[in-house]
Amino acid sequence: MHDLSEGVARFHRDVFPGKADLFARLATTHRPGTLFVGCSDARVVPELITQREPGELFVIRTAGNLVPPHAPGADGVAASVEYAVAVLGVDDIVVCGHSGCGAMTALAEGHDLAALPAVADWLRHVGAVPVTRDVPALVRANVAAQLANLATHPSVARALAARTLTLRGWVFDIPTGTVEQVDVSSPVAGTPVHS
Ligand code: ZN
Repeated sequence: MHDLSEGVARFHRDVFPGKADLFARLATTHRPGTLFVGCSDARVVPELITQREPGELFVIRTAGNLVPPHAPGADGVAASVEYAVAVLGVDDIVVCGHSGCGAMTALAEGHDLAALPAVADWLRHVGAVPVTRDVPALVRANVAAQLANLATHPSVARALAARTLTLRGWVFDIPTGTVEQVDVSSPVAGTPVHS
């Protein structure tokens, strides 16, 4: 068991004092500008790779950065999307895939998921993406597919129609720390987000 309490103590002792004014403000204010949808993968840390402070990103992390298309019934991802768009009024949604994604690798390489029924069921939300053995290509195609899924959510569709919301697709490359933008119309290759 990793001792997280040591980190909590260090945060409170060494980090929090420098951000006390920020947290005092955040105690009564929650106005993030961006909804960041990333993979649950421990190596993809949204606030670190975008250098955002607490309060700036509303984050949903799921296995494979999947957003199921809108459907009737309770869904934690849909509830978070709706809250971010309709209540918090984010003007930007980023779906961020990443290199070496276990979920995309399992699909691309056709891993046997018989012992992981929840994972197998969840990964059907990758949708109509042509399954390729090329993991980077599947990662990009999946980001494009999840942006399309997002657009089926009524709150997102309304904000897109009102031109108050922008959807963007990214892929984070773990070994180089670079972020590529996914061209949704042609998610074959990415372009760098930064120079
Ligand atoms: Zn992943």
